[in-house]
Amino acid sequence: MTDDTLLPPPPEPPPPCATCGKPPDLCLCAELVPLRVRRGLLVLQHPQEQDVELGTARLLTGQVEGAVLRVGLSWPNLAKALGRPQADNRRWGVLHMGSKEDVAKVPRGGIAVMGKSGILPENDLVLADLEGIVLIDGTWAQAKTLWWRNPWLLKLRRVVIHPDFRSAYGNVRKEPRKESVSTLEAGAFALAKLENRPELQAQLTKPFDTLLDRWKKRRGPRRPVKLAAEVPND
Ligand SMILES: [Zn+2]
Repeated sequence: MTDDTLLPPPPEPPPPCATCGKPPDLCLCAELVPLRVRRGLLVLQHPQEQDVELGTARLLTGQVEGAVLRVGLSWPNLAKALGRPQADNRRWGVLHMGSKEDVAKVPRGGIAVMGKSGILPENDLVLADLEGIVLIDGTWAQAKTLWWRNPWLLKLRRVVIHPDFRSAYGNVRKEPRKESVSTLEAGAFALAKLENRPELQAQLTKPFDTLLDRWKKRRGPRRPVKLAAEVPND
């Protein structure tokens, strides 16, 4: 038993940090050092994404120079979502998560651009030419809504990853997600592959480990809750 178990939970949750979006005791701003990467990064977040404590979208965008986080339901096109005068749909990829059929086609630890019948023959060229990637943050239902409300997403390259690691979330997530890894972990994995900088993955996910450590300490020792509906990694 640690002293943490004696601390009662705060009566009113204090307002979250304006920058990282975390409650003050979990604030990770000091750990978010923006890194320069060649690819652009856009994260679309459903306005009802409620996971203030354990959500990771801001941890990702806070560490990537020039990254854009948009909270909303719809944008007319990619350029508007990015806040730029123009953007080339064919040079941006949108990360698809959770389709077992697609993931099975991608080698473990790999990333691929999918066509109608599997990995594009010109996969390597298309990946090398990608200007940026889009990630959708939220629950499965929220992500589905964003897909439906933003048909321009279908014009982007469909990028699928096959993570070769287990999410650091373990079984702390309150709500089962369709994707088996967090937005931060997926983005870190994809960027490390695209930029050909394997070290990026650990670098970008480090604040997430810190977050989970602090969160678990704050919660105190407790038997882990088994989520029957949790989607396994593979
Ligand atoms: Zn903060």
